[in-house]
Amino acid sequence: MTRILEKNFLVTNDPNRDGCLDKSSMPSFSFMENGVKFEVYRKSRKTLGIFIAHRKVEVRVPRYTSKKEVNNFVLGHRVWIAKRLRDEKKRDSERLRFRNGGVIFLRARELRIEFRESRLSKVKIDGNQFIVYGHALNKAKAEEIVKGYLIEKAKAYMVLRTMNIAKHLGLDEKITNIKFRKTKTKWGHCTSKGVLQFNWLIMLAPLGVIDYMISHEVCHLRYMNHSPKFWAMVESICPKSKEYALWLKENEHRLWF
Ligand SMILES: [Zn+2]
Repeated sequence: MTRILEKNFLVTNDPNRDGCLDKSSMPSFSFMENGVKFEVYRKSRKTLGIFIAHRKVEVRVPRYTSKKEVNNFVLGHRVWIAKRLRDEKKRDSERLRFRNGGVIFLRARELRIEFRESRLSKVKIDGNQFIVYGHALNKAKAEEIVKGYLIEKAKAYMVLRTMNIAKHLGLDEKITNIKFRKTKTKWGHCTSKGVLQFNWLIMLAPLGVIDYMISHEVCHLRYMNHSPKFWAMVESICPKSKEYALWLKENEHRLWF
């Protein structure tokens, strides 16, 4: 499985960590610092953790942690927090928004989105322009048209590519189905029954990254884990897999819509 990574959290050794802000309860107390809101939640947990999302910092601490301990913990991580808040702001500004004149990050190139009135719905790339044709276009309509375009591209490119890579590894007979779905937290998925599932948003990424993702899932047909043998197999067909995985981690927020 290739996961969408969330780097805006820091936890002190918590095996049950997750990157989501807590919406289940009210904070025990909160405070402002340098224009940033800190919310502190006392929980039945053993460790202190900091989670950052939506320009808010959430601190999760064991039930009987004093305010002073919370303060010291926050103070000890203020450089990390400031950097994460800066990163989040930058990522927010780079996020893909469909509007006339907006920017789409396609194959690591910034293209200008242009809406053009047309009875036919389609997408055309012309130089530095990503042209969306459609009737009375708005954000939602443009998204639908681009979605159809990317699914079509994914089916045309990825099915054959997946079969070729699988054939090369002698794993093609294990494949029972190849599906395309936009999931919230995954780029790709492989089941023990031989179903490969890909997030069609990956079609916005460079071809090397797409190949890495395909290779990753195909190798799960042989190894249902992330063991050294699994990675050796991935690297045998995609030697730059580390580089591509890193690219995906750093740029996935620009592909999402
Ligand atoms: Zn995996």
